[in-house]
Amino acid sequence: MIYQRSSQLFAEAEKVIPGGVNSPVRAFKGVGGTPIFVKSAKGAYLFDEDNNKLIDYINSWGPMILGHAFEPVVNAVIEKAKKGTSFGMPTELETEIAQLAVSMVPNIDKIRFVNSGTEACMSAIRLARGFTKKDKIIKFSGCYHGHSDSFLIAAGSGLSTFGVPNSPGVTQGTAKDTLLASFNDIENVKALFESNKNEIAALIIEPVAGNMGCVPPREGFLQSLRQLCDENNALLIFDEVMTGFRLAKGGVQELYNVVADIVCFGKVIGGGLPVGAFAGRNEIMNYLAPIGPVYQAGTLSGNPLAMAAGKAMLEALNNDDEIFTRLEEKTAYLHQGIHKVLTENKIDFTINRVGSMISVHFDKNPVFDFQTAKNGDNETFKKFFHGLLNEGVYIAPSAYETWFITDALTYEDLDFTINAINKVAKSL
Ligand code: PMP
Repeated sequence: MIYQRSSQLFAEAEKVIPGGVNSPVRAFKGVGGTPIFVKSAKGAYLFDEDNNKLIDYINSWGPMILGHAFEPVVNAVIEKAKKGTSFGMPTELETEIAQLAVSMVPNIDKIRFVNSGTEACMSAIRLARGFTKKDKIIKFSGCYHGHSDSFLIAAGSGLSTFGVPNSPGVTQGTAKDTLLASFNDIENVKALFESNKNEIAALIIEPVAGNMGCVPPREGFLQSLRQLCDENNALLIFDEVMTGFRLAKGGVQELYNVVADIVCFGKVIGGGLPVGAFAGRNEIMNYLAPIGPVYQAGTLSGNPLAMAAGKAMLEALNNDDEIFTRLEEKTAYLHQGIHKVLTENKIDFTINRVGSMISVHFDKNPVFDFQTAKNGDNETFKKFFHGLLNEGVYIAPSAYETWFITDALTYEDLDFTINAINKVAKSL
């Protein structure tokens, strides 16, 4: 494939935008080469500035679960835009999407909308600290909760790609209140609670991790976290920015039958517009301004275009009883296909998957935490990535990212992808 115009556009972008991109992983630093500039997208496909057609396995890092330019979302946004794009005043639409979200997700009474997943997690932590009157939080190595200061400690996603465990600019004072645990290691979490008695406000986790590749929780792990939080009067925060409205209507709480105190959303809930949200039961959510003491606000929060897109997306998911089964079946088909061709080509690999989140790790040992995720062979991944790109299949330009499957993918697309992987595997 030819990427001449993308290369030119990247060179221009680099002059006026740091690294040429507005979010680091897009820059291809982890895999080398020049990022692809998108011209348009429809359904399961991206069309780039050099007129290449690519099957998209990133889907804007999750939101486009029903495909690009999904008509109900596009139409809802167009109709809303004609009536004004922002008021900074309440609208009926905000209540409608809130009612819908609360009806779909278990154990939440109220939801507050923000503009990104970062804002959602940042606000959830502040709320948990205000509510419990404690300062420390526990997070897991390899989990990513956005780029607010408290979370840039051994975070996944772009930070793993670049091997930067902590970001300059985050003060020691902030870092000391973030305690690090190993994913799937309950003894480790127990020890942290014991050595920080009465100091831990909350434990935040991606309940199915997606920022070190896809790493599922071991059986009983989430339930044990629930118990430890209860015993220590700490809140359990599920960061469902990736998993919310993707793995089930009610997210991980529904899928694994476990109750969180605060749930964070992003990605799917905005239908591709900048939306995040955090939610919980009344007792906790009523701690927020203007009725409670914990301050949190946003000029564009609840923006009518964003709410229209989100509501159209949630309605489409809520009204389709087969959607999550269909996504599961398509992803399982892809999983089996990849497993078969990589085995036939004698490649060392592990595939992790939960529902429509899947990742391929180039290591034969199980991947269950950040350490084991790091064992993957990055040189093989780079070749795999570029090989697939050359075949017209676009996966995330990093070994630490999850592939997000969209319902717009057909079985022909999946067969095409499996064939492409077979071809590429021969050259690894
Ligand atoms: N939490 C998780 C689990 C995420 O995957 C992300 C983004 N990939 C975020 C939070 C941050 O969301 P945003 O990029 O919208 O700020």
